[in-house]
Amino acid sequence: MLAGALGIACRVERTNAVALTFDDGPHPEGTPATLELLDSYKTRATFFLVGEQVERFPRIAAEIVRRGHEVALHGHEHKLLLRRSPASLARELEQADALIGEATGQRPVFYRPPYGIFSAGALPIVRRGGWKPMLWSRWGRDWSGSESPESIAGRAVAGLRPGDVVLLHDADHYSVSGSWRMTVAALPLILEEIVELGVPSATLSDST
Ligand SMILES: [Zn+2]
Repeated sequence: MLAGALGIACRVERTNAVALTFDDGPHPEGTPATLELLDSYKTRATFFLVGEQVERFPRIAAEIVRRGHEVALHGHEHKLLLRRSPASLARELEQADALIGEATGQRPVFYRPPYGIFSAGALPIVRRGGWKPMLWSRWGRDWSGSESPESIAGRAVAGLRPGDVVLLHDADHYSVSGSWRMTVAALPLILEEIVELGVPSATLSDST
């Protein structure tokens, strides 16, 4: 796989854990609803935050860390890296990193690009900045708006095994309006499946 050849992780190394990840937040409704469900299952997860949304909702970003979860970097704007110059990307990532650090008191360790697509120039910039690139091994396709909670959960947990990194979205800033509601409805089904597997779910930093 190309990601593997480039040294980009799609799974976690500590093989007895599953890592749930939520992209595109913070979101004023989707993030709190997600946090409530994670709390009720005593589960921890990683949230890949977008800097421009952290600027709008800094308290929600802070709440993620207050509840014991990890925050990670998903850029300042949600744009394909292919359209960015290396200099502007470097500036953007520093800006988003600083915003996340200010709002949450936690410095992001992991980076995932918008749409999961790296450009050739981006990888050295990410590594120079000290962030670890991280993609995913399972997803729910929960952004499309044409899925049901059952289809999202079914896809996310089909063949789930220790070491998997599951991609979900707690925000609809860059997808079909209200798509986070489907994710929140799917989440108990996903969490039940993880309980059933007897696999702990953990933040990325706790799993690598
Ligand atoms: Zn995204």
